[in-house]
Amino acid sequence: MVINNIFRGRNQGITVIAFLLLMTLGSCAQNNQKEVNISDSGMKVTERIFKSEEEWKKLLTPEQYTVLRQKGTERPYTGLYDQHFVKGAYFCAGCGLELFDSDSKFDAGCGWPSFNTPAEKGHIDEHADRSYGMVRTEVVCSRCGGHLGHVFNDGPPPTGLRYCINSASLIFRSEEEVKREKLRSNDSIPNPGG
Ligand code: FE
Repeated sequence: MVINNIFRGRNQGITVIAFLLLMTLGSCAQNNQKEVNISDSGMKVTERIFKSEEEWKKLLTPEQYTVLRQKGTERPYTGLYDQHFVKGAYFCAGCGLELFDSDSKFDAGCGWPSFNTPAEKGHIDEHADRSYGMVRTEVVCSRCGGHLGHVFNDGPPPTGLRYCINSASLIFRSEEEVKREKLRSNDSIPNPGG
């Protein structure tokens, strides 16, 4: 009986250690995980990017980190791209994925860059956001999960949507730069971040 209990205790101990080991291995693997994700449209395949907070801090400026990784909001009328109307494309400042074309940009007068449609539907994910006593739809980069801003139903045709985006989440490339770098909608700009 005593021996049985000792064995049972030992077996349980081994089980617990094995479980902890698997959990540790799992979390290590997740830091470097790249997962293939088929987007809503079913047409685009986006590779997801996972980085540790320390890696993001090294890659991004403090302002980009606050907005992209901590869901911060830049002060209205202060962002680099609020009154920026040049032909080209806007890419994620975290991972370089193309998010918006300049053709979809309009002046909503709200103090933040506004777009009525994403460059590719599958490049942006939406989440319900109930913070600050409001019900809003948060938009994030589908590849790195970086916070971009919110989408509202008061935009102009053809979509009637207003993607209200922080400048700090974006990096702009002019039409000439996009052509020179031969960027297509599923490509990334090299070395995004700060
Ligand atoms: Fe991204």
